Amino acid sequence: MTRRIGIDFDNTLICYDRLFLLLAREAGYEVPTKLRDKTALRDWLRVQPEGELAWQRLQAQAYGPQIGAATLFNGVEEVLAACQKRGDQLYVVSHKSRFAAQDREGVNLHQAARKFLVRSSLFERRLLNPDQVFFEESRAEKVRRIASLGCELFIDDLPETFTERDFPTSIRRILFAAQPLLPGIECCRNWQEIGQALE
Ligand SMILES: [Mg+2]
Repeated sequence: MTRRIGIDFDNTLICYDRLFLLLAREAGYEVPTKLRDKTALRDWLRVQPEGELAWQRLQAQAYGPQIGAATLFNGVEEVLAACQKRGDQLYVVSHKSRFAAQDREGVNLHQAARKFLVRSSLFERRLLNPDQVFFEESRAEKVRRIASLGCELFIDDLPETFTERDFPTSIRRILFAAQPLLPGIECCRNWQEIGQALE
């Protein structure tokens, strides 16, 4: 039976960890080598002088002109291929503002994200369908999209998606995170675990 599976984009399909660390070092920050991911970097940067602004500038770069240097999470392609083989319908539904707060060049972040997906060859290999990728400008619109597509399962790195007021309670929720945060929400730490959860 065809399942409709929804997947978040930022930090669920696409991994920015290395890119953020690289951009921070390029911007002149002496980032401690023990920092390995985006969240650790953000927390460190925010307590530096003007850190919040610096973080927003890095975001404008990473989600915009530099997005091509981000990567898919390890295991994404295998899981998408297994889903396609089973006949699942896959949808990408993302909450993403169209422009970054600290970007004066007006790079369209929705277009940048689509370009990343084109270059990743996920469309070409038919692991995703470009007509089944949606970027919404608010979390509420994202949740409305998930509901109107009839997704029976959604994968997201942010618990806020699942706790949004109108998130349909009938949808199976998989949180992509290091540890479970909320009761009633499954937690997968990596895409290998997501693959097992979808079998
Ligand atoms: Mg996300």
